[in-house]
Amino acid sequence: MELSKKILIFIEGLTDGLYLNHALQLEAVLEKLKIKCYTADFEDSRISGAILKEDPDDKFIIYVAKQHHPNRRRFTIAHELGHYISYVNDSYSKNGFLENKGFEDYSILYRADGKSSEAEMEANEIAAEMLMPRVKVVELLEKNSTIELMAQKFFVSEIAMTIRLQKLYQDLIIT
Ligand SMILES: [Zn+2]
Repeated sequence: MELSKKILIFIEGLTDGLYLNHALQLEAVLEKLKIKCYTADFEDSRISGAILKEDPDDKFIIYVAKQHHPNRRRFTIAHELGHYISYVNDSYSKNGFLENKGFEDYSILYRADGKSSEAEMEANEIAAEMLMPRVKVVELLEKNSTIELMAQKFFVSEIAMTIRLQKLYQDLIIT
C-alpha cells in the first residue's frame, strides 16, 4: 500500500526537526500531538498495543505492552500513532475510531491469518515512514550500511528494518 500524498506531507510536518541523528524522538512527537502514552500489562499477552479515543473531549491515549523490547515498543507506538494520523487525515482508520473508539493490536508485523485490513496496513506504513524515512534509508544504503547497523541507527528491530527494505526495493523495482 502506498501512503497518500496528504499523509506523507502530514508526517513530514509532524516529524520535522524531531530526529536525533537518525532516531525519531517519539516522546517529542507524542508531546506535540498531546497524546499520552502508557506502558501496560495487558491481560492478553498477545496484545502489543492499543489506541483509544476518549469521548467527549476527543483525547487520544496509547498503551504499549510493558514486557516488549524498547525497539519493538517504538514500532508499536508509531503504529498506534499511524491510526491517529490516518484518522485526522480522514483515511482508513476513521471508521475504527467512530465505531469502536479505537484499535487494539495483536502481533503487528505478522498477522496469523496473513491478511490485514487496510487500516492496519496503512498504520504500519505510517509507522515505517516515521521511524525509517525513505530518504534516510536511501542515504544509508548509499553508504553501504548493513541491516544491523541501520536498525541500530533507527532504533528499530532488525525484523522491522528488513521488512522496510523489502518494501522499498519492491517500490524501486516497480517505479
Ligand atoms: Zn493497528
